[in-house]
Amino acid sequence: MNYKFLKVKGKKMQLPAFFPDATYGNVIGVNSKELYKIKAQGVVVNIYHLLRKNLINKIGKIGIHAYINFFKPIISDSGGFQVMSLIHDNPKLGKIEENKIIFNLDSKKIILTPEKSIQLQFRIKSDIIMCLDDCTRADAGLNAQKKSVERTIRWAGRCKKEFVKLTKNMEEKPLLFAIIQGGENKKLRKYCAEELLKIGFDGYAFGGFPVKNGKLLKGILEYTSKLIPNGFLKYAMGVGKPQDILECYKLGYNMFDCVIPTRDARHKRLYAFTNNKLGFKTIYIRGRHSNDKNPISKFCDCPTCKNHSLKDVYWAFRENREKANNLATIHNLRFYSMLMEKLRGK
Ligand SMILES: [Zn+2]
Repeated sequence: MNYKFLKVKGKKMQLPAFFPDATYGNVIGVNSKELYKIKAQGVVVNIYHLLRKNLINKIGKIGIHAYINFFKPIISDSGGFQVMSLIHDNPKLGKIEENKIIFNLDSKKIILTPEKSIQLQFRIKSDIIMCLDDCTRADAGLNAQKKSVERTIRWAGRCKKEFVKLTKNMEEKPLLFAIIQGGENKKLRKYCAEELLKIGFDGYAFGGFPVKNGKLLKGILEYTSKLIPNGFLKYAMGVGKPQDILECYKLGYNMFDCVIPTRDARHKRLYAFTNNKLGFKTIYIRGRHSNDKNPISKFCDCPTCKNHSLKDVYWAFRENREKANNLATIHNLRFYSMLMEKLRGK
Protein backbone atom coordinates (compact mmCIF):
# COMPACT_ATOMS: atom_id res chain seq x y z
CA MET A 1 0.00 0.00 0.00
CA ASN A 2 1.58 3.20 -1.10
CA TYR A 3 -1.36 5.54 -1.11
CA LYS A 4 -2.93 6.65 2.14
CA PHE A 5 -4.97 9.36 0.59
CA LEU A 6 -5.52 10.77 -2.81
CA LYS A 7 -6.35 14.21 -4.09
CA VAL A 8 -8.20 14.52 -7.34
CA LYS A 9 -9.47 17.82 -8.77
CA GLY A 10 -9.21 19.41 -5.33
CA LYS A 11 -11.15 16.64 -3.60
CA LYS A 12 -9.56 14.38 -1.05
CA MET A 13 -10.26 10.76 -0.37
CA GLN A 14 -8.67 8.33 2.01
CA LEU A 15 -7.54 4.88 0.99
CA PRO A 16 -8.49 2.13 0.98
CA ALA A 17 -11.90 3.38 -0.08
CA PHE A 18 -15.23 1.79 -0.78
CA PHE A 19 -17.44 3.55 -3.33
CA PRO A 20 -21.19 3.03 -2.94
CA ASP A 21 -23.00 2.44 -6.17
CA ALA A 22 -24.88 5.46 -7.51
CA THR A 23 -25.74 3.99 -10.91
CA TYR A 24 -28.19 6.74 -11.90
CA GLY A 25 -26.54 9.44 -9.82
CA ASN A 26 -28.23 8.68 -6.54
CA VAL A 27 -27.39 5.99 -4.03
CA ILE A 28 -30.69 4.16 -3.48
CA GLY A 29 -31.95 4.49 0.08
CA VAL A 30 -29.87 7.50 1.22
CA ASN A 31 -29.59 11.20 0.42
CA SER A 32 -26.38 13.16 -0.02
CA LYS A 33 -26.36 14.46 3.57
CA GLU A 34 -26.48 10.87 4.73
CA LEU A 35 -23.61 9.97 2.40
CA TYR A 36 -21.48 12.49 4.31
CA LYS A 37 -22.73 11.13 7.64
CA ILE A 38 -21.68 7.60 6.77
CA LYS A 39 -18.31 9.07 5.63
CA ALA A 40 -18.42 7.76 2.07
CA GLN A 41 -15.16 8.59 0.31
CA GLY A 42 -16.90 8.84 -3.04
CA VAL A 43 -19.47 7.12 -5.25
CA VAL A 44 -19.57 5.36 -8.63
CA VAL A 45 -21.92 6.31 -11.45
CA ASN A 46 -22.38 4.48 -14.72
CA ILE A 47 -22.28 6.19 -18.13
CA TYR A 48 -24.41 3.53 -19.82
CA HIS A 49 -27.22 3.91 -17.30
CA LEU A 50 -27.02 7.73 -17.37
CA LEU A 51 -27.30 7.58 -21.18
CA ARG A 52 -30.19 5.16 -20.99
CA LYS A 53 -32.06 7.56 -18.70
CA ASN A 54 -31.21 10.59 -20.89
CA LEU A 55 -29.46 12.24 -17.95
CA ILE A 56 -26.12 13.21 -19.50
CA ASN A 57 -27.12 16.64 -20.85
CA LYS A 58 -28.94 17.55 -17.67
CA ILE A 59 -26.00 16.52 -15.50
CA GLY A 60 -23.52 18.08 -17.93
CA LYS A 61 -24.90 21.57 -17.29
CA ILE A 62 -23.93 21.60 -13.61
CA GLY A 63 -21.66 18.58 -13.23
CA ILE A 64 -22.32 15.35 -11.43
CA HIS A 65 -21.23 16.68 -8.00
CA ALA A 66 -23.75 19.53 -7.99
CA TYR A 67 -26.37 17.21 -9.54
CA ILE A 68 -26.19 14.80 -6.60
CA ASN A 69 -25.01 17.44 -4.10
CA PHE A 70 -22.02 15.37 -3.06
CA PHE A 71 -18.57 16.88 -3.41
CA LYS A 72 -16.29 13.90 -2.91
CA PRO A 73 -14.47 12.02 -5.69
CA ILE A 74 -16.81 10.42 -8.20
CA ILE A 75 -15.86 7.49 -10.39
CA SER A 76 -17.69 7.04 -13.67
CA ASP A 77 -17.81 3.58 -15.14
CA SER A 78 -17.52 3.49 -18.90
CA GLY A 79 -20.30 1.10 -19.86
CA GLY A 80 -17.89 -1.76 -20.56
CA PHE A 81 -19.45 -3.97 -17.89
CA GLN A 82 -22.77 -3.75 -19.74
CA VAL A 83 -21.05 -5.23 -22.80
CA MET A 84 -20.85 -8.40 -20.76
CA SER A 85 -24.00 -8.27 -18.72
CA LEU A 86 -26.16 -7.31 -21.70
CA ILE A 87 -24.56 -8.09 -25.07
CA HIS A 88 -22.34 -11.13 -24.38
CA ASP A 89 -25.15 -12.70 -22.36
CA ASN A 90 -27.89 -11.82 -24.86
CA PRO A 91 -26.77 -10.83 -28.38
CA LYS A 92 -30.25 -9.47 -29.16
CA LEU A 93 -29.46 -6.56 -26.87
CA GLY A 94 -26.73 -5.23 -29.10
CA LYS A 95 -23.43 -5.91 -30.81
CA ILE A 96 -19.77 -5.07 -30.53
CA GLU A 97 -17.86 -3.84 -33.55
CA GLU A 98 -14.21 -2.88 -33.70
CA ASN A 99 -15.07 0.77 -33.59
CA LYS A 100 -18.08 0.79 -31.32
CA ILE A 101 -20.64 -0.87 -29.10
CA ILE A 102 -24.28 -0.69 -30.15
CA PHE A 103 -26.85 -1.23 -27.41
CA ASN A 104 -30.39 -1.94 -28.64
CA LEU A 105 -32.94 -0.49 -26.27
CA ASP A 106 -36.70 -0.74 -26.72
CA SER A 107 -37.08 2.68 -28.25
CA LYS A 108 -33.57 3.65 -29.32
CA LYS A 109 -30.00 2.62 -29.85
CA ILE A 110 -27.10 3.72 -27.70
CA ILE A 111 -23.76 3.85 -29.47
CA LEU A 112 -20.56 4.04 -27.47
CA THR A 113 -17.08 4.40 -28.89
CA PRO A 114 -13.97 4.61 -26.72
CA GLU A 115 -13.73 8.33 -27.54
CA LYS A 116 -17.39 8.99 -26.84
CA SER A 117 -17.24 7.18 -23.52
CA ILE A 118 -14.38 9.44 -22.42
CA GLN A 119 -16.11 12.60 -23.73
CA LEU A 120 -19.28 11.75 -21.79
CA GLN A 121 -17.33 11.15 -18.60
CA PHE A 122 -15.72 14.55 -19.08
CA ARG A 123 -19.06 16.16 -19.77
CA ILE A 124 -20.47 15.09 -16.40
CA LYS A 125 -17.19 16.27 -14.76
CA SER A 126 -16.23 12.94 -13.30
CA ASP A 127 -13.07 12.70 -11.16
CA ILE A 128 -12.02 9.17 -12.00
CA ILE A 129 -12.62 8.14 -15.58
CA MET A 130 -12.66 4.51 -16.70
CA CYS A 131 -11.57 3.35 -20.15
CA LEU A 132 -14.17 1.61 -22.24
CA ASP A 133 -13.36 -2.10 -22.23
CA ASP A 134 -14.74 -5.33 -23.61
CA CYS A 135 -15.76 -7.18 -20.49
CA THR A 136 -16.23 -10.97 -20.55
CA ARG A 137 -17.29 -13.55 -18.01
CA ALA A 138 -14.44 -15.42 -16.32
CA ASP A 139 -15.63 -18.70 -17.87
CA ALA A 140 -15.90 -17.44 -21.47
CA GLY A 141 -13.85 -19.54 -23.95
CA LEU A 142 -10.20 -18.83 -24.71
CA ASN A 143 -10.94 -17.25 -28.08
CA ALA A 144 -13.53 -14.92 -26.59
CA GLN A 145 -11.04 -13.93 -23.88
CA LYS A 146 -8.29 -13.27 -26.44
CA LYS A 147 -10.59 -11.08 -28.52
CA SER A 148 -11.72 -9.21 -25.42
CA VAL A 149 -8.14 -8.56 -24.31
CA GLU A 150 -6.98 -7.37 -27.73
CA ARG A 151 -9.96 -5.05 -28.06
CA THR A 152 -9.60 -3.79 -24.49
CA ILE A 153 -5.97 -2.84 -25.20
CA ARG A 154 -6.78 -1.10 -28.52
CA TRP A 155 -9.68 0.76 -26.95
CA ALA A 156 -7.56 1.78 -23.94
CA GLY A 157 -5.05 3.33 -26.36
CA ARG A 158 -7.86 5.32 -28.00
CA CYS A 159 -9.28 6.34 -24.60
CA LYS A 160 -5.86 7.60 -23.50
CA LYS A 161 -5.47 9.60 -26.71
CA GLU A 162 -8.86 11.24 -26.20
CA PHE A 163 -8.08 11.88 -22.53
CA VAL A 164 -4.78 13.59 -23.40
CA LYS A 165 -6.57 15.73 -25.99
CA LEU A 166 -9.31 16.78 -23.55
CA THR A 167 -6.96 17.52 -20.63
CA LYS A 168 -4.44 19.51 -22.69
CA ASN A 169 -5.26 22.84 -21.09
CA MET A 170 -6.66 21.60 -17.82
CA GLU A 171 -4.92 22.49 -14.60
CA GLU A 172 -6.66 19.95 -12.39
CA LYS A 173 -7.04 16.81 -14.40
CA PRO A 174 -9.23 13.86 -13.57
CA LEU A 175 -7.59 10.44 -13.26
CA LEU A 176 -7.78 7.86 -16.02
CA PHE A 177 -8.00 4.17 -15.14
CA ALA A 178 -7.54 1.18 -17.44
CA ILE A 179 -9.26 -2.15 -16.94
CA ILE A 180 -7.32 -5.40 -17.12
CA GLN A 181 -9.24 -8.24 -18.76
CA GLY A 182 -8.30 -11.85 -19.48
CA GLY A 183 -10.75 -13.92 -17.46
CA GLU A 184 -9.03 -16.67 -15.50
CA ASN A 185 -6.18 -16.98 -18.01
CA LYS A 186 -2.90 -15.83 -16.47
CA LYS A 187 -1.09 -15.36 -19.80
CA LEU A 188 -3.84 -13.08 -21.06
CA ARG A 189 -4.03 -11.10 -17.81
CA LYS A 190 -0.25 -10.63 -17.97
CA TYR A 191 -0.31 -9.56 -21.61
CA CYS A 192 -3.21 -7.17 -20.98
CA ALA A 193 -1.55 -5.61 -17.91
CA GLU A 194 1.81 -5.18 -19.67
CA GLU A 195 0.28 -3.51 -22.72
CA LEU A 196 -1.85 -1.19 -20.57
CA LEU A 197 1.16 -0.28 -18.44
CA LYS A 198 3.02 0.68 -21.64
CA ILE A 199 0.21 3.09 -22.56
CA GLY A 200 0.30 4.46 -19.01
CA PHE A 201 -2.63 5.16 -16.67
CA ASP A 202 -3.18 6.56 -13.18
CA GLY A 203 -4.75 3.39 -11.91
CA TYR A 204 -5.60 -0.14 -12.97
CA ALA A 205 -8.73 -2.13 -12.33
CA PHE A 206 -9.40 -5.84 -12.23
CA GLY A 207 -12.00 -6.29 -14.95
CA GLY A 208 -14.58 -9.01 -15.41
CA PHE A 209 -16.71 -10.62 -12.79
CA PRO A 210 -14.54 -11.16 -9.67
CA VAL A 211 -16.75 -13.96 -8.36
CA LYS A 212 -17.67 -17.38 -9.80
CA ASN A 213 -20.34 -19.63 -8.26
CA GLY A 214 -20.43 -17.32 -5.27
CA LYS A 215 -16.68 -17.65 -4.68
CA LEU A 216 -14.10 -14.90 -5.01
CA LEU A 217 -11.60 -15.64 -7.83
CA LYS A 218 -8.75 -15.15 -5.39
CA GLY A 219 -6.01 -16.78 -7.46
CA ILE A 220 -6.43 -14.60 -10.54
CA LEU A 221 -7.12 -11.49 -8.44
CA GLU A 222 -3.82 -12.02 -6.64
CA TYR A 223 -1.94 -12.74 -9.86
CA THR A 224 -3.37 -9.64 -11.53
CA SER A 225 -2.61 -7.41 -8.53
CA LYS A 226 1.03 -8.48 -8.69
CA LEU A 227 1.22 -7.46 -12.35
CA ILE A 228 0.59 -3.84 -11.38
CA PRO A 229 3.64 -2.21 -9.78
CA ASN A 230 3.14 -0.78 -6.31
CA GLY A 231 2.48 2.91 -6.40
CA PHE A 232 -0.50 2.67 -8.72
CA LEU A 233 -4.08 2.69 -7.57
CA LYS A 234 -5.56 -0.79 -7.76
CA TYR A 235 -9.29 -1.04 -8.11
CA ALA A 236 -11.14 -4.33 -7.53
CA MET A 237 -14.31 -3.51 -9.46
CA GLY A 238 -17.47 -5.10 -8.14
CA VAL A 239 -15.86 -6.44 -4.95
CA GLY A 240 -17.92 -7.11 -2.92
CA LYS A 241 -18.85 -8.92 0.22
CA PRO A 242 -17.02 -7.65 3.32
CA GLN A 243 -14.93 -10.82 3.58
CA ASP A 244 -13.99 -10.54 -0.12
CA ILE A 245 -12.92 -6.93 0.37
CA LEU A 246 -10.70 -7.99 3.26
CA GLU A 247 -9.12 -10.64 1.01
CA CYS A 248 -8.61 -8.22 -1.88
CA TYR A 249 -7.09 -5.61 0.42
CA LYS A 250 -4.50 -8.20 1.48
CA LEU A 251 -3.82 -8.82 -2.22
CA GLY A 252 -2.96 -5.15 -2.72
CA TYR A 253 -6.22 -3.59 -3.93
CA ASN A 254 -7.18 -0.25 -2.40
CA MET A 255 -10.40 0.75 -4.16
CA PHE A 256 -13.69 -1.13 -4.15
CA ASP A 257 -17.29 -0.70 -5.24
CA CYS A 258 -20.31 -2.95 -5.13
CA VAL A 259 -24.09 -2.94 -4.95
CA ILE A 260 -24.01 -5.43 -2.06
CA PRO A 261 -24.33 -3.07 0.96
CA THR A 262 -27.23 -1.11 -0.51
CA ARG A 263 -29.00 -4.05 -2.15
CA ASP A 264 -28.59 -6.27 0.92
CA ALA A 265 -29.94 -3.48 3.14
CA ARG A 266 -33.15 -3.44 1.12
CA HIS A 267 -33.35 -7.22 1.53
CA LYS A 268 -33.05 -6.99 5.35
CA ARG A 269 -29.51 -8.33 5.31
CA LEU A 270 -27.29 -6.28 7.59
CA TYR A 271 -23.60 -6.46 8.44
CA ALA A 272 -22.70 -5.90 12.06
CA PHE A 273 -19.35 -5.58 13.80
CA THR A 274 -19.00 -7.90 16.79
CA ASN A 275 -15.95 -6.15 18.25
CA ASN A 276 -13.76 -3.09 17.81
CA LYS A 277 -11.57 -4.92 15.31
CA LEU A 278 -12.60 -6.66 12.10
CA GLY A 279 -15.02 -9.20 13.58
CA PHE A 280 -18.49 -9.07 12.08
CA LYS A 281 -21.60 -11.13 11.51
CA THR A 282 -24.60 -10.99 9.19
CA ILE A 283 -28.03 -10.29 10.64
CA TYR A 284 -31.29 -11.00 8.79
CA ILE A 285 -34.09 -8.89 10.15
CA ARG A 286 -36.87 -11.30 11.11
CA GLY A 287 -39.56 -12.02 13.71
CA ARG A 288 -37.19 -12.58 16.60
CA HIS A 289 -36.15 -8.94 16.35
CA SER A 290 -39.71 -7.67 16.90
CA ASN A 291 -38.93 -6.82 20.53
CA ASP A 292 -35.13 -6.57 20.46
CA LYS A 293 -34.07 -3.30 22.05
CA ASN A 294 -30.39 -3.64 21.11
CA PRO A 295 -28.92 -1.67 18.22
CA ILE A 296 -27.93 -3.56 15.05
CA SER A 297 -24.37 -3.34 16.38
CA LYS A 298 -23.13 -1.65 19.53
CA PHE A 299 -19.77 -1.24 17.76
CA CYS A 300 -21.31 0.86 14.99
CA ASP A 301 -21.51 4.67 15.17
CA CYS A 302 -24.09 5.17 12.41
CA PRO A 303 -27.24 7.28 12.99
CA THR A 304 -29.39 4.12 12.77
CA CYS A 305 -27.47 2.36 15.54
CA LYS A 306 -27.26 5.52 17.65
CA ASN A 307 -30.97 6.30 17.50
CA HIS A 308 -32.75 3.03 16.77
CA SER A 309 -32.99 -0.54 18.00
CA LEU A 310 -33.35 -3.76 16.00
CA LYS A 311 -36.98 -3.62 17.02
CA ASP A 312 -37.39 -0.25 15.24
CA VAL A 313 -35.75 -1.64 12.12
CA TYR A 314 -37.97 -4.74 12.21
CA TRP A 315 -41.16 -2.69 12.52
CA ALA A 316 -40.03 -0.24 9.86
CA PHE A 317 -39.69 -3.18 7.45
CA ARG A 318 -43.23 -4.20 8.39
CA GLU A 319 -44.85 -0.80 8.24
CA ASN A 320 -42.76 1.72 6.30
CA ARG A 321 -40.54 0.24 3.65
CA GLU A 322 -38.99 3.55 2.64
CA LYS A 323 -37.93 4.30 6.20
CA ALA A 324 -36.69 0.74 6.66
CA ASN A 325 -34.57 0.91 3.50
CA ASN A 326 -33.14 4.22 4.70
CA LEU A 327 -32.28 2.92 8.20
CA ALA A 328 -30.78 -0.30 6.83
CA THR A 329 -28.83 1.38 3.99
CA ILE A 330 -27.33 4.00 6.31
CA HIS A 331 -26.15 1.23 8.59
CA ASN A 332 -24.72 -1.05 5.89
CA LEU A 333 -22.89 1.80 4.15
CA ARG A 334 -21.41 2.95 7.45
CA PHE A 335 -20.34 -0.66 8.11
CA TYR A 336 -18.41 -0.57 4.82
CA SER A 337 -16.85 2.83 5.50
CA MET A 338 -15.92 1.72 9.04
CA LEU A 339 -14.36 -1.38 7.54
CA MET A 340 -12.17 0.90 5.39
CA GLU A 341 -11.30 3.04 8.42
CA LYS A 342 -10.24 -0.06 10.33
CA LEU A 343 -8.03 -1.14 7.42
CA ARG A 344 -6.51 2.35 7.38
CA GLY A 345 -5.65 1.79 11.04
CA LYS A 346 -7.78 4.60 12.37
ZN1 LIG B 1 -25.02 1.08 12.41
